[in-house]
Amino acid sequence: MLTPNWLSRLPGHRYDGPDPDGYMTMGEVIAFIERFAVASHAPIRTGTNVTSVRQTDDGYLVNTSGGEIRCRSVVVASGACNRPAVPPFGEAVPASVAQLTPFDYRNPDQLPAGGVLVVGASATGVQLAAELVRSGRPVTLSVGEHVRLPRTYRGRDVLWWMEQSGLWDERYDQVDDLTRARRLPSPQLVGTSERTTLDLNALADLGVEMVGRWATVRDGRALFSGGLRNMFSLADLKLERLLNSFDDWARSNDSEDIDQPPARRQLDLRSGEISTVIWATGFRPDYGWLDVSVVDPKGRLRHDGGMVDSPGMYALGLPVLRRRKSTFIHGIEADARDVVSHLSGYLAAVKAK
Ligand SMILES: Cc1cc2nc3c(=O)[nH]c(=O)nc-3n(C[C@H](O)[C@H](O)[C@H](O)COP(=O)(O)OP(=O)(O)OC[C@H]3O[C@@H](n4cnc5c(N)ncnc54)[C@H](O)[C@@H]3O)c2cc1C
Repeated sequence: MLTPNWLSRLPGHRYDGPDPDGYMTMGEVIAFIERFAVASHAPIRTGTNVTSVRQTDDGYLVNTSGGEIRCRSVVVASGACNRPAVPPFGEAVPASVAQLTPFDYRNPDQLPAGGVLVVGASATGVQLAAELVRSGRPVTLSVGEHVRLPRTYRGRDVLWWMEQSGLWDERYDQVDDLTRARRLPSPQLVGTSERTTLDLNALADLGVEMVGRWATVRDGRALFSGGLRNMFSLADLKLERLLNSFDDWARSNDSEDIDQPPARRQLDLRSGEISTVIWATGFRPDYGWLDVSVVDPKGRLRHDGGMVDSPGMYALGLPVLRRRKSTFIHGIEADARDVVSHLSGYLAAVKAK
């Protein structure tokens, strides 16, 4: 996890182990959620795939691998990250170069020998680049827009500031540009016991070569945008604004001056220099099973703060669904309370008819 243990909480359930300032491993996250499943007594059907949801006269018909369910109301909580998002020009990458997504990646040994091009410099990309370069691989990182955060600020985890300053509680109907806020990449953060900051400076020190945003593939060559410096400056500007909002008088003058030769603008993917491309370019939801016309052409669910555009249908767990913290584990409780309150009003009204 990149959120500290003290922040991991679900309704009536919080981390109570010995290391509140530490970060959970995958196994610990699973155990945490399994304990919540037991404590909540919810009638959970595991291993049950929903294959279709259709609207009926009085609600919805849900087909699952374990039979049909008829219901008045459905909460779509199927996650925001079901599929890796790979740009279409991935198809033009020469066949001699292996392509992986974070869903396929397990460890550096799994990759063919040679250099690795990691695409995307948000939480996943920076962590993969660090792991790969530490394993002795030559690593090139393609950097687009990113959110730079220090792990700690003035002795506290930076996410403590996010919570205390109220920034995470900002509501979806108060955010200036909601579409943009919902598309914001994840912050460059890693959870380690040393509380290290994993930004582009740290990666440059480890020997990662940085190139700009990957724009396209032409004749087997990866072409990168020349705006790398702008990306750095933009991330710096946003970081400075954020830190200022945490504490007006504590201005950060720490400008991100990466001491590197000018970034390469292209890379011949047939030269053998790069044997693997890892697409750390984000994730998308998958609503292939939802046979109700509530998904826009870009594959996003149409909803207003979790009230989906179909009577009795709701959503939870999507970016800035009702608050900036909506897609963090600790963010679900407030959103769920709002959505369930609307849902119970809906059911009461339907019953009264
Ligand atoms: C790389 C990464 C790192 C993250 N790190 C953190 C972190 O450090 N701290 C933090 O607080 N949050 C973190 N998050 C966010 C966190 O994972 C989410 O907040 C959380 O998982 C949301 O829970 P959810 O139940 O809404 O969705 P999910 O956890 O995605 O669960 C959705 C579930 O629905 C199931 N499903 C989907 N379709 C169907 C279907 N048709 N039928 C049946 N089941 C279906 C899926 O299998 C899945 O089990 C991270 C996310 C990612 C992608």
